[in-house]
Amino acid sequence: MTIRRTFFFDGLGVSGGVVLGPAFVIETHGAESESHSLAASEVEQEVERFQDAIERARVEVTELGRTVAERIDAQQAAIFDAHAVLLTDPHLINRTIKGIREERKNAEFIFWSVTRDIGEQLAAIGDSYFSERSHDLYDVSRRVIKLLRNQQNNDGVAVPPGSIIVANDLGPSETAQFHREQITGFVTNSGGPTSHTAIMAKALSLPAVVGLDYITHYVRNGDFLILDGTQGKVILHPTQQMIDFYREQAVQFNRERETMAELRSLPAETLDGVRITLEANIEFAEELDLVAAQGAEGIGLYRTEFFFMGRDKLPTEDEQEEAYSTVLKAMGDAPVVFRTLDVGGDKISMTIPMAAENNPFLGLRAIRLCLAHPELLRLQLRPLMRAAAGKKLHLLIPMVCGLEEIAQTREHLREVREQLMSEGTQLPKEVLLGVMIEIPSAALQADMIAREVDFLSIGTNDLVQYTLAVDRVNKMVGHLFNETHPAVLHLIHRVVTAGNAAGKPVTVCGEMAGDVMHSLLLIGLGIRRLSMSPSLIGPVKRAIRSVEMKALEKIAAGLLCLSTAQEVRTALQAQIGNLF
Ligand code: PEP
Ligand code: MG
Repeated sequence: MTIRRTFFFDGLGVSGGVVLGPAFVIETHGAESESHSLAASEVEQEVERFQDAIERARVEVTELGRTVAERIDAQQAAIFDAHAVLLTDPHLINRTIKGIREERKNAEFIFWSVTRDIGEQLAAIGDSYFSERSHDLYDVSRRVIKLLRNQQNNDGVAVPPGSIIVANDLGPSETAQFHREQITGFVTNSGGPTSHTAIMAKALSLPAVVGLDYITHYVRNGDFLILDGTQGKVILHPTQQMIDFYREQAVQFNRERETMAELRSLPAETLDGVRITLEANIEFAEELDLVAAQGAEGIGLYRTEFFFMGRDKLPTEDEQEEAYSTVLKAMGDAPVVFRTLDVGGDKISMTIPMAAENNPFLGLRAIRLCLAHPELLRLQLRPLMRAAAGKKLHLLIPMVCGLEEIAQTREHLREVREQLMSEGTQLPKEVLLGVMIEIPSAALQADMIAREVDFLSIGTNDLVQYTLAVDRVNKMVGHLFNETHPAVLHLIHRVVTAGNAAGKPVTVCGEMAGDVMHSLLLIGLGIRRLSMSPSLIGPVKRAIRSVEMKALEKIAAGLLCLSTAQEVRTALQAQIGNLF
């Protein structure tokens, strides 16, 4: 019997809950589950295909090394020299070729098993130098496997039910292809609190730990894991004692979740009677059950772009109309805010024309992309109008940086309305147009913008990113992503003031809205509508019901006078933490 060593990993818990179960490793998937036998006549061709991939990988890493040497420094570039050397390592290459010939299996499968073997031997030495070498080895092998996979067209991922997904990182297009019933949690090497793994996990009420650095190097498909999304911990090969302890933790967590469910039908009202509206953010119509279960008062943000991801053709108008109608019908008279396509940045859709960009977050994304390709905008506006026939349609434009984009969008809306009318299609009773405030320029011009639109919605994930110039998905600067930075608070305060002056509602729909402490700070700053992942509504409501508005306003006013994010955070914890 093999006794397996228990490994402990600490990361960032971005979605609470405890689950135990088998791992499904995304990186190793192609190598391990797509092994296939070769006919004798195919073997030499496979060896050639492998050698070709090795050669292409060598060219890639040499080129990367050169670029890094130019742009960063020689020390960083040396990593790629080491990778190039690994790609000529006879132990690695010859063993793979021998394996392909003897086992008559495809190159990816053999190469990954050889990599695993060598990687484990290196890691077992227990010396940091060798463990680093094993990281390089995995890195370089993934590159080769990627090249091999491109040649043979890998389609789709079949995840066994009950799996904990383990991956380097999960982009929105990958998460879009999972089914809720297959997975119980997410574990990733990279990612931060507002990465899409985090957003998705919260939306699905599944625990997730991100920022674990090298966990994919240790975990194999089927390995037993404990995932504690509340504490940010992952345990590989746990002992029976640990399993028993965490099973109990899982029961307790679920009990607490049920208590939250009891709050479902109670209003989000402060002790002194101020009513706050709590709505849900959704990515898919599949989340509607959860929305209802948490007692959301509407959909404050429907990220419609997810409907365009994880597919190989653009959705038709009819397909879209059906999806949008499902959501509208399920929500009855409650408002549903449809955000128009927000692709670009880290949200990639294979069906939309998007060029590679050096700074995708600052590039042709969201409304900019739609205005550059108005056919895309119309492809979405038409089914939205059709789905909301006879009802109110709330449209939200992402990434607005000034007034021109609002005017241009209105013009397209007008054209679409006329076109539909000439086709005899029934139109919405009313179209309310809102904008996301997520770029500092829009926040600074909020008074002018508020006069032009029907509502405002502050996307704090991007507002923090753009105000502080901190890439929201870059772990290296994760510690600089401070929602409590005074500059951010002042911008939010400015937007609320502008919205109030113009009589236009202001919602916060970024991740800040679903964090208990931050939500109370936002309320103190004047926000009366919050939209968040459905599973966060309960804890936020419980906190709101235990505080007085007077106290929150006083605290928020005091925090606006502080000068650093750390000072704000400390004061927030000391003052708001005491209230509930
Ligand atoms: C935001 O930026 O805060 C937001 C809600 O939009 P997304 O996270 O989808 O970019
Ligand atoms: Mg955004």
